[in-house]
Amino acid sequence: MPGERILVIEDEARIAQFIERGLIYEGYRVNVARDGKMGLGIARDTPPDLVILDWMLPGLDGLEVCKRLRAASDVPILMLTAKDDIQDRVTGLDAGADDYLVKPFSVDELMARIRALFRRSVSASRPEILRFSDLSLDTGTHRAYRDDRAIDLTAKEYELLELFMRNPRQVLTREVIFDRVWGYDFGGESNIIEVYVRYLRQKTEHIEGESRLIHTVRGVGYVLREEE
Ligand code: CA
Repeated sequence: MPGERILVIEDEARIAQFIERGLIYEGYRVNVARDGKMGLGIARDTPPDLVILDWMLPGLDGLEVCKRLRAASDVPILMLTAKDDIQDRVTGLDAGADDYLVKPFSVDELMARIRALFRRSVSASRPEILRFSDLSLDTGTHRAYRDDRAIDLTAKEYELLELFMRNPRQVLTREVIFDRVWGYDFGGESNIIEVYVRYLRQKTEHIEGESRLIHTVRGVGYVLREEE
């Protein structure tokens, strides 16, 4: 959403400038901080609508800054990291980050992630219950229910299920799913969608008597529909 204020906390001038230019071009208002202490000061004095936070910072590191930002507000936080390591992701998400971007990234990728985070924060501020068959999804708590059975979801599982629930009985292609949930184009060979559909099926249909709701459309994608 153009006009929103974004705080960039990044010590590498070249990367900070690259991000700042891209954001300004898209119409965002931007503040740049070169270290964590400065970033926390700006966040306190001029509360941002979103924070882009580098992991490796001099002085206070990104994780510590993330925890302190999170202690003070619910602002969406996108962390930048040089390493694509599952354990790092878990650590960062535990510290309160909402999403991750691994360096190097393209400006398109960055903008797509930012749009996704803003979409998510808008839907979290106006919660609703999405329903399909005996499955329901609370967009406020991000919890799903199969009949009365509560199902906890990870952030990506939630986003994927929300996409299905908002588009029932429509075949969603792999490209659409990838773009809407992961926020950027992919090489075509990634099996990440298959992995997450499997997680969702394990969580939503593992009790005896629970019918399949997320169906594979071979060679195309997936569809949320009743069993035939
Ligand atoms: Ca850095």
